[in-house]
Amino acid sequence: MTTPRERSAAVVAVGDEVIVSENGGERGVVEAVLPRRSILARPDVFHHHLKQVIVANADQLLIVASWRDPKLWPELVDRYLIAAERNGLSPVICVNKIDLADAELRIAACRAELQVYVDLGYRMLLTSALTGKGVDKLKDVLHGQTTVLAGMSGVGKSTLLNAIQPGLELRTAEVSDWSHTGRHTTTQVSLIRLQMGGFVVDTPGIREFGLNDLRQDDLVQFYPEIAAVQGRCRFGDCTHTHEPGCAVKAAVRQGNVPKARFESYTSIFATLPKSRAEERAQAVERAWR
Ligand code: GDP
Ligand code: ZN
Repeated sequence: MTTPRERSAAVVAVGDEVIVSENGGERGVVEAVLPRRSILARPDVFHHHLKQVIVANADQLLIVASWRDPKLWPELVDRYLIAAERNGLSPVICVNKIDLADAELRIAACRAELQVYVDLGYRMLLTSALTGKGVDKLKDVLHGQTTVLAGMSGVGKSTLLNAIQPGLELRTAEVSDWSHTGRHTTTQVSLIRLQMGGFVVDTPGIREFGLNDLRQDDLVQFYPEIAAVQGRCRFGDCTHTHEPGCAVKAAVRQGNVPKARFESYTSIFATLPKSRAEERAQAVERAWR
């Protein structure tokens, strides 16, 4: 008998490398799944101690945003940066529709707004699927790698991929997750093989599992520029949201911490569950009441 944990681990995920034996028929048989270099997983809906692997062996996360239409949304970029780091993928930020900044003569403003990510050491590309600008650089980034795509709809992901490889076909696989009750949940995963070598994986799932299990007090580690100044806050456990004497807020006022990054920090912070310590303290308080 296999335990649920073994069953779950035995499922072949998109991106898995497997050993296939030929059994005389047309189709081979998967004999073994080779050890995975990375996994993109989310908690199993029905067994929370288990993980459902959505993509195996991915190398990098391509975060696609657009300068306009839809307008650049730094908070979403930051959420994906956190998701990449938590899943061991190296992030690349691609800001598409840069032709719209050119048209508005706003290219300098655009670069200034994005400089924060360059300063933080992230790889960044400015592209236009329309004019072809930056598309060769994007090709270099994707070459030979397994890249997971992230970005809201309408930013130009499909158009960019088509510029890289005209007529590419999206192959859609469904990752199923069966429970004892016979119900199952599915996640759509598209896998694209690039002729130049490499794979592109498109899954809407990245959005939901990126920040899974993250607590409020875990957040600051993903904001190195905030972590660097927080030692000067008046309170040792300052969350930089409402406390007096907050050095982070002072640094934002002085322009030493970018405003957009601080805003995304506070906005994401508000959506996260409290720290484990705080939760325990509240439980003890309730017990004594
Ligand atoms: P997806 O949902 O991310 O796959 O976005 P699509 O590739 O479907 O693109 C959405 C719309 O944006 C389409 O009308 C595209 O023609 C347009 N688009 C894509 N890339 C660019 C670009 O670089 N510049 C401009 N101006 N429009 C673009
Ligand atoms: Zn503070």
